[in-house]
Amino acid sequence: MVISASFDVESVLERIHSVVGSSSVNQPISLHEPDFSGTQAWTYVKDCLDTGWVSTAGSWVSRFEKELCITTGAKHAVVVSNGTVALRLALHLVGVGFHDEVFVPPLSFVATANAVAHLGAVPHFIDVEKTTLGMCPVALSQRLESIAEKRNGILVNRETGRRVAAVLPVHVFGNPCQVDRLRLVADFWGLPLVEDAAEALCSYREGIHCGLFGSVGTLSFNGNKLITTGGGGALLTNDSALAKHARHLSTTAKTPHPWLFNHDYVGWNDRMPNINAALGVAQLEDIDRRLKAKRLLAKHYQDAFADLDGVELLSEPNGCLSNHWLVTLRLTTHDPSVALHLRDQLLDRSHNSGLLLRPIWTPLHHLPMFDSCSSSPLLVADTESPRLLNLPSSPQLLHGKLL
Ligand SMILES: *Cc1c(COP(=O)(O)O)cnc(C)c1O
Repeated sequence: MVISASFDVESVLERIHSVVGSSSVNQPISLHEPDFSGTQAWTYVKDCLDTGWVSTAGSWVSRFEKELCITTGAKHAVVVSNGTVALRLALHLVGVGFHDEVFVPPLSFVATANAVAHLGAVPHFIDVEKTTLGMCPVALSQRLESIAEKRNGILVNRETGRRVAAVLPVHVFGNPCQVDRLRLVADFWGLPLVEDAAEALCSYREGIHCGLFGSVGTLSFNGNKLITTGGGGALLTNDSALAKHARHLSTTAKTPHPWLFNHDYVGWNDRMPNINAALGVAQLEDIDRRLKAKRLLAKHYQDAFADLDGVELLSEPNGCLSNHWLVTLRLTTHDPSVALHLRDQLLDRSHNSGLLLRPIWTPLHHLPMFDSCSSSPLLVADTESPRLLNLPSSPQLLHGKLL
């Protein structure tokens, strides 16, 4: 195996340490950690405990939703218990059901495909493009051309006989995918667009917040995301009827009445509890400081790696504002198997010294539950995934130093 002379594992680690400081097994540096310093989190959670309003009815829930609308520009936000549930609910709301197919990119967290499967539907993988790592509009269009046909007004995959029900792109690591172009393809075929914006709070394409390009988008507030409510998620939409239905279905579809328990639909118990929403409000109030720190951290990494051949950092896509959720390093050596070898050396060395780098997810079409799903050719996903690594990206890595 020939490995580029300009590249060695030690010089990569040295550069990471020059940005984030030193680490050891006893004092590791994680990928992305929660941080409540400088926020009102204690006060707001204490209010929940003092008043007894800890569960899903409570004023912090509606306040968090209001603040999310202000931050994102969405007309409506509906907060739920996690990002996976948000996706499942969003897909259900646009009509995805049993035996349908949903177009999904293979480079994502497993929740994207799981949410499809939770409804009894089946993921259909569409390749990604290299610049954003998001679903490729050309690959989507070509795939539809080759497999889709209208039968009695219903769009069907002629190879499987299943209805094609939605397009579900993902904004990977906070970088907006080419969702405007994906939307054109979805519109052309009459397909609803649902965006997995779990990682993309405060990321924008052409001034529009991620999640607001199609029918509905979803966020996650899991512990490692830009802001966290412990666990949590949200649906964002400009569609008032859809938002109303989302709220109804996520609260057991109970019809309003002072004492009667009547329900008019098989609903879910998906609502976010008040305690979690209180954490969300506290974090959202601090969002500008976090975004600034993350942007600066990304710039420090860019500077640190500028002169090293064999590696590059993923950059903010043109026309976009990224939240820089996870800074991503690409090993540029041509051969994916050489890249994989280097990547594994880097992971091994860094974890031994408490620097917790992370490879990108195993592509979803290689997981046993999804390896027989239909797909477009997945060449980009398969040649990119072995060469991508996430670097420690907590905004507090810069606290004290620069803020
Ligand atoms: C985090 C994440 C989810 C799921 O969110 P949870 O809140 O963990 O259920 C879904 N999709 C992507 C791309 C994610 O990163």
